[in-house]
Amino acid sequence: MDFLLFGPPGAGKGTQSQRLVDIYKTPQIATGDLMRAERKSGSALGQEFDKYMSKGELVPDSLVEQLLSNRLKQPDAANGAIFDGFPRTLTQAKRLDEILEGLSRRIQAVVHLEVSLETILERASGRRVCPSCGASYHLHHKPPENTNVCDACGHEGLNQRKDDNEDVVRRRHAEYREKTEPVLSHYRAKGIVVEVDGLGELDQVTQNICNALKKLVGEAL
Ligand code: AMP
Repeated sequence: MDFLLFGPPGAGKGTQSQRLVDIYKTPQIATGDLMRAERKSGSALGQEFDKYMSKGELVPDSLVEQLLSNRLKQPDAANGAIFDGFPRTLTQAKRLDEILEGLSRRIQAVVHLEVSLETILERASGRRVCPSCGASYHLHHKPPENTNVCDACGHEGLNQRKDDNEDVVRRRHAEYREKTEPVLSHYRAKGIVVEVDGLGELDQVTQNICNALKKLVGEAL
């Protein structure tokens, strides 16, 4: 099954989609993660991504599309994917429809995670990420067992993401409201959007997402 998690940057799409990977045995396709990996590799394309990412701006559609279609060709995504942070513009949404149609697939559900800007700012200021394995922590809500040491791989020194500072968070939110939120209408017209409150315990939000998906697509899960 193909479905996507939709919502403002910082709504918890990444965290929730990783949990859904285990539940539905479907890979997550997160364009932000793919771009960060490319940036880390130091390639020319990665440097191009960085120009936009570090400012909180959207990467141009043509560059994102290439990244996405390469990822979709990998064997693990042959039967479905959980899209996270994609599509972010109407152009991307329409292109995704075309690519999936070519594979006799379609987006079956769009989970809209709703979270206020205030909560997003609080989450971003406390978020820390392991530069070695990518594990994510929060200084107050999910601290590592030993201060500044990754529980998952033991790496010492957790970083704040470049785009987690307040100015960038606000800019990314404004980009979301202007360019990404309108994409919801595209999916609403197809009757496949489910609203889920993104505030609360992680387990509860995961449960709410699963319930909403079951109600919408039932036996397809
Ligand atoms: P994320 O990890 O999804 O929050 O994305 C981090 C940054 O990567 C965004 O602020 C954008 O600069 C860029 N990005 C990720 N996905 C997309 C996309 N689908 N379209 C355009 N830019 C993207």
